[in-house]
Amino acid sequence: MISVAQLAEKIQAGDKRAIARGLTWVEKATPEGRELVRSIFAKGGQAHVIGITGAPGVGKSTLVNALTLTLRARGHRVGILAVDPSSPFSGGAILGDRIRMQESVMDPGVFMRSLASRGHLGGLSRATFGALAVLDAAGFDKILIETVGAGQSEVEIMQLAHTTLVVLAPGLGDDIQAIKAGILEIGQIFVVNKADRDGADHTVRQLKTMLTLGSETLDWVPPIVKTVAEKSEGIGEVADAIEQHRTFLFQRGLFQDRRLVQTEHMIEQSLADEVARRLADARQRPVWRQWIEAVSHGELDASQVALAIIETREEDSDGLKHLK
Ligand code: GDP
Repeated sequence: MISVAQLAEKIQAGDKRAIARGLTWVEKATPEGRELVRSIFAKGGQAHVIGITGAPGVGKSTLVNALTLTLRARGHRVGILAVDPSSPFSGGAILGDRIRMQESVMDPGVFMRSLASRGHLGGLSRATFGALAVLDAAGFDKILIETVGAGQSEVEIMQLAHTTLVVLAPGLGDDIQAIKAGILEIGQIFVVNKADRDGADHTVRQLKTMLTLGSETLDWVPPIVKTVAEKSEGIGEVADAIEQHRTFLFQRGLFQDRRLVQTEHMIEQSLADEVARRLADARQRPVWRQWIEAVSHGELDASQVALAIIETREEDSDGLKHLK
């Protein structure tokens, strides 16, 4: 079995098999995975993390493929994480789409991986954070996180990005969807894809109106870029907008700040995960039933039980009994 230090070294050398293995450790949340993330996190911090979100069918995957080729042509190394908060299965639908990525598979400057929720959202944003740390340490300077699905989960994943692209397409009632998901607030760049279809200009106008309504205090004015991802039209403009946003973040010192925001978010996430895990453990123990009874009879306070659960350490096999 390879050690964490050996794996970290290979990852930093850009070895694709090592990267894949590291990502598996991270995704499974093994102790080695956690140690790996801790040891490589400090080695990274250079990568520009770009979130790409929007309703299913707007053309995100197609856009990611086209953007990857453009970024490669500009000399970047591109890591891609396709994150699916709605699917409990790894792979599946997203992987199907990836057949189109094959031209990049042989390219050592591109690495692509799907991450799925396995039914546990907090775990997913932690896995995404860990996966980012791995790709960052491996020297991918542009990391694209594509999310499928909509809503809170997406917003949470997007907190990990420096720059978020919201993708819309004409004729999908996107305006309504966008407002619903609170997605306008998280977007720094708006892409109206399928510009070859009727209604693209209408979508752009609607978007402009909505963005001006909420933008009095913004000093970054989110650009709206029209694309035909299928024909790679407008992709250069998307890449330019991404670069402009990076420059903007650097000039304000916000690029570095984002790392602190990410770190803080991950501490909160880990805490929530840990509490959930301890609660699940406590429920498996005989004392759980006794506690419920004791609280219901007024012998114990619910908050005493809560504290006992939080204070239980893994090595403390009977830690849960001390209240009785
Ligand atoms: P996703 O679900 O957002 O990832 O969307 P996909 O990238 O899978 O694209 C959904 C469908 O839209 C596919 O059939 C694409 O071929 C098609 N598509 C993507 N980009 C364009 C475009 O610019 N114009 C048109 N007409 N179709 C597109």
